[in-house]
Amino acid sequence: MLLQAQRQKVIEIALKAQRDKLIPLTMGNFSIRDKDTGYVCITPSGMEYSLLQPADIVIVDLYGTIIDGNRKPSIETQLHCRTYAKRADVFGICHTHSPYATAWACCGKEIPVIVAELAGMIGGPVKCAPYAPMGTIELANIVAEHIGSQNAVLLENHGMLAVGENIDQAYANAVVVEEGAKVTLYAVQIGGMKTITDQECKNLKKQTMESYGQK
Ligand code: 13P
Ligand code: ZN
Repeated sequence: MLLQAQRQKVIEIALKAQRDKLIPLTMGNFSIRDKDTGYVCITPSGMEYSLLQPADIVIVDLYGTIIDGNRKPSIETQLHCRTYAKRADVFGICHTHSPYATAWACCGKEIPVIVAELAGMIGGPVKCAPYAPMGTIELANIVAEHIGSQNAVLLENHGMLAVGENIDQAYANAVVVEEGAKVTLYAVQIGGMKTITDQECKNLKKQTMESYGQK
């Protein structure tokens, strides 16, 4: 089977997102860009994750044309493909409707950086891309444009998109954004929130990228 290991990995991450409550029902999609072929392995549209088999993961090229698989790919295939096309450094993408991040997105507000790991992994505020309907080229273009060089972006009235050098990193970024969205909401309610400066965000990102974890 073409890219079987990558297909299996996409399923593993989708199941993790469901377990960690980052998605209601199947309101999200997950993909890997294979480094050798450049093909994208993406979840099928609206299929219960616990039933997914590697053959259900659809393989498309960077234009979204199906290369392998019998399922209908995610309606956000172009969102993933356009983001990969824009970001040569990205090989994994997680799109979720995680509730706290989506709440910020529904207000069209960026998530300010008050949480250290958000600074370390995302590198700055999580900006909000303006609204476009789900599953459209318009949305794909707007999001690819607004993510810039950041590792995550909010999608107004919709959800969030996190990217990474691999899908594990994209998933970690999705978790950090959701936690950041939650803690920031509480901090706003407590009052007197202290934001982390741009310079300190840069320092924390550098430190995280260079020395956090088992290198
Ligand atoms: P799919 O099930 O087609 O991936 O759509 C879910 C979604 O998040 C739409 O924006
Ligand atoms: Zn969505």
